[in-house]
Amino acid sequence: MNNRVHQGHFARKRFGQNFLHDDYIIESIVSAIQPTKDQALVEIGPGLAALTIPVSEQLDHLTVIEIDRDLAERLKQNPLLNNKLTIIEQDALTFDFYKLADELGKPLRVFGNLPYNISTPLMFHLFEYANKIVDMHFMLQKEVVTRLVAAPNSKDYGRLSVMAQYYCQIIPVLEVPPTSFKPAPKVDSAVVKLIPYQEKPYKVSDVKVLSRITTEAFNQRRKTIRNSLSNMFTVEQLVALDIAPSLRAENLTVEQYCILANSWKE
Ligand code: SAM
Repeated sequence: MNNRVHQGHFARKRFGQNFLHDDYIIESIVSAIQPTKDQALVEIGPGLAALTIPVSEQLDHLTVIEIDRDLAERLKQNPLLNNKLTIIEQDALTFDFYKLADELGKPLRVFGNLPYNISTPLMFHLFEYANKIVDMHFMLQKEVVTRLVAAPNSKDYGRLSVMAQYYCQIIPVLEVPPTSFKPAPKVDSAVVKLIPYQEKPYKVSDVKVLSRITTEAFNQRRKTIRNSLSNMFTVEQLVALDIAPSLRAENLTVEQYCILANSWKE
């Protein structure tokens, strides 16, 4: 059988479709999520329902967001889902999670085996709704999980590390080999849990400024911040903040990025 066909569905590359078919991994993910009835669970990209069915067994209601209309149609017809689903046929990248949390009357627990081609922009989109989210469990490329948890002074530490660690506590859950999916992806995967901070360890008054500073610094990560941040800070300002101008983007801690963001004036 064509290895792109799973349960009679032809996997669409443009939607990053790699379907989980490994029962041990599926059970491990569901037990990491620990869904319970009083919670507002939301799955991004339910696909052929590998996670949707076991999660919905624990719930009375589950919201799913699926971009592929054929898959959304199959979910509607799936007798194992017992009319428990609200199916939103939309691109999760433009979805308004505030509105959903308001409609459900509680903060959201989000999970999904994410399409790898959009996982990073999707996480940035979700960070904007961090105060309406209890936690997130995602299957990602292993390399992305490494970047999420990376500490300063490493090559994996980048803009994603700083922004994710600003918003969330991040806990790697489990590694997943390519053979657990159909079709098998070329890379290793991993599941991660992100818990948005109720009380952030480092606060910033305007997160857009933090976003701009990290973009400017890491876009030129080989340069010293004296150069990469020269549009925003003078050497004297950096020294006054006790941040050495000779450092490079990867040497600054999340706290130092927050200090920079709070001291920037237009
Ligand atoms: N959850 C299923 C599983 O674990 O087997 C499918 C996972 S597959 C990696 C990603 C799923 O996300 C597919 O069902 C795909 O159609 C859907 N998807 C892709 N891009 C999407 C988007 N922008 N918004 C919502 N769903 C999307």
